[in-house]
Amino acid sequence: MLNKNTVMIAKFPVQMTSPDELTEHIYGCIGASKKSILFFANTNFVVKCKLLVERFLNDDVVIVNDGLGMDIACMLLHGRKFKSNLNGTDFMPYFFLQSKQKLRVFLLGGQPETLNGAAYYLAHTLGHVVVGTCDGYDGIKNAQNLVDTINEACVDVVLVALGNAEQEEWILTNYQQINAKFFAGVGGLFDFWSGDKPRAPKWMQNIRMEWFYRLCLEPKRLYKRYTVDALKFLISCIKYRKQRVRS
Ligand code: UDP
Repeated sequence: MLNKNTVMIAKFPVQMTSPDELTEHIYGCIGASKKSILFFANTNFVVKCKLLVERFLNDDVVIVNDGLGMDIACMLLHGRKFKSNLNGTDFMPYFFLQSKQKLRVFLLGGQPETLNGAAYYLAHTLGHVVVGTCDGYDGIKNAQNLVDTINEACVDVVLVALGNAEQEEWILTNYQQINAKFFAGVGGLFDFWSGDKPRAPKWMQNIRMEWFYRLCLEPKRLYKRYTVDALKFLISCIKYRKQRVRS
């Protein structure tokens, strides 16, 4: 846990924090050789990770808020705003650029061709060392002893991009056996780093409409996420609120 300033969003303890405080916490853990795990919770995370919720109640885990839906839920449930919006696409580059040393990073997930571009970006733009990769399709399916492979590469950081809730489950199941210090579930980050998918224009990000831009680019894949699943998210929040009022 990062600090005691946590709010519950549909049973998930979400930290009220800023990029600076979060970065300091993670480097503090790395310096002390203590494992830490970071998850970016958006509405999709809350819906898809519902069955894993007990496994997130672990002192090594930090969950932060990503996106407009989480802000609305925080306002409705707690009458307050989060300090910052912490999505992986903005936070992870910020985090890597603050490092005083080159970190050894393993990339797990994404399409094989995306991984090459993401590894190039991490090495050349952010200045770190990619010590191994495994794609999230045939790569992970056919990998034998992936945990051993990662350990043999002497890794500091493992970034996992398999989508919700596969990436969360993979990290929670494997992190104790891996000698890395920091693990993060990063969703579509490798797609952005490789340039395979564009970010929304800055003005759209500023008015919190990046989700709409992504929906327009990939309507088939994301339609359910922003309709049915958004509704499921709302229902989870209402249920949680009723339970809280009763107890
Ligand atoms: N992915 C994967 N294996 C799968 C399904 C997805 O490696 O079986 C990858 C996918 O290529 C993408 C990432 O997982 O790079 C998740 O992307 P998504 O857009 O769903 O993430 P988010 O919207 O949560 O950022």
